[in-house]
Amino acid sequence: MARVYEKVFYGDKLVPLSEASLSVASSAVLYGLSVYTVFPVSLNNKGQLVAFRLQDHFRRLTSSAKIIGIDTFEKKWNYERFVDAVNQVVTDQKPTEDVFVRATIHVDALVAGTRSRGLSTVLSMFLYEALPIIPQDGARLKTSVWRRIPDYAIPSRAKVNGAYVNSVLAKQDAIDSGYDDCIFLDSQGHVCELSAANIFIIRDGALITPDTTHDLLEGINRRTVIQLAYDLDIPVVERAVDLTELYIADEAFACGTSAFVAPIKEVDARQIGNGHTPITEKLRPLHSAVIHGNHPGYEKWLTVIS
Ligand code: PMP
Repeated sequence: MARVYEKVFYGDKLVPLSEASLSVASSAVLYGLSVYTVFPVSLNNKGQLVAFRLQDHFRRLTSSAKIIGIDTFEKKWNYERFVDAVNQVVTDQKPTEDVFVRATIHVDALVAGTRSRGLSTVLSMFLYEALPIIPQDGARLKTSVWRRIPDYAIPSRAKVNGAYVNSVLAKQDAIDSGYDDCIFLDSQGHVCELSAANIFIIRDGALITPDTTHDLLEGINRRTVIQLAYDLDIPVVERAVDLTELYIADEAFACGTSAFVAPIKEVDARQIGNGHTPITEKLRPLHSAVIHGNHPGYEKWLTVIS
């Protein structure tokens, strides 16, 4: 398990991890009524700490709150204040390694019932070791017996804590069956994503990924990979993907903040491609250099922590 740093931004200040706690009677605990995001803060070649696509993470966090109807956070918070909180929690602890920052808006109102509007919220932000959630040298995946929650039930587009029970079921099922992670299918039976990462396949030199109407989280690294592919003149298609297309793909990879860009070597006991992954091997180091702030041309995505 990843090591969690000792100080947490909670409410409006830094507190010890043990003091950043929610009531057992809060909606966050009772119903999983919190929305969150996780972004990397990495050490670049110059020894600076850089956060990746912070503005996009803030936008997705507030969009998640909007979808769920959590409406008090944005009255108190804006992007500038959010960046200030990131600066506080990172600079206070001066990590000497790459870390992930988990920022969560919790509904901390007590016994408020099954509703979301007008309820008090608290922001938490903590750092932990940036360990990958799947092997980086070829992940083995299993199609899950659990389907991805559809947009008409609990929207995956909103990163809401309670919905992650769906991911836990599918990931645990995959682990119990001897695999590293799952392939979620959507309610129509199309390929959706992994438990906490998006998926790309490569066929005949083109990147193909499920479009965003397939009940997936709109991953920030998914969008990043699409942009990097355009910049490398690799064609990208966003469309429905059948499971059997994944089986016969030339290459496949997962991507996400905690998956990075990870090649997929096996799905449901079928080897993906012939073991050569030239496009994945182009995108993987580029993605890593970009998130670390070590590749010129992508500075617009970076916030230097000061
Ligand atoms: N799908 C799910 C279900 C996830 O939890 C994540 C991780 N946040 C992703 C995809 C990848 O999203 P991102 O690139 O923004 O980390």
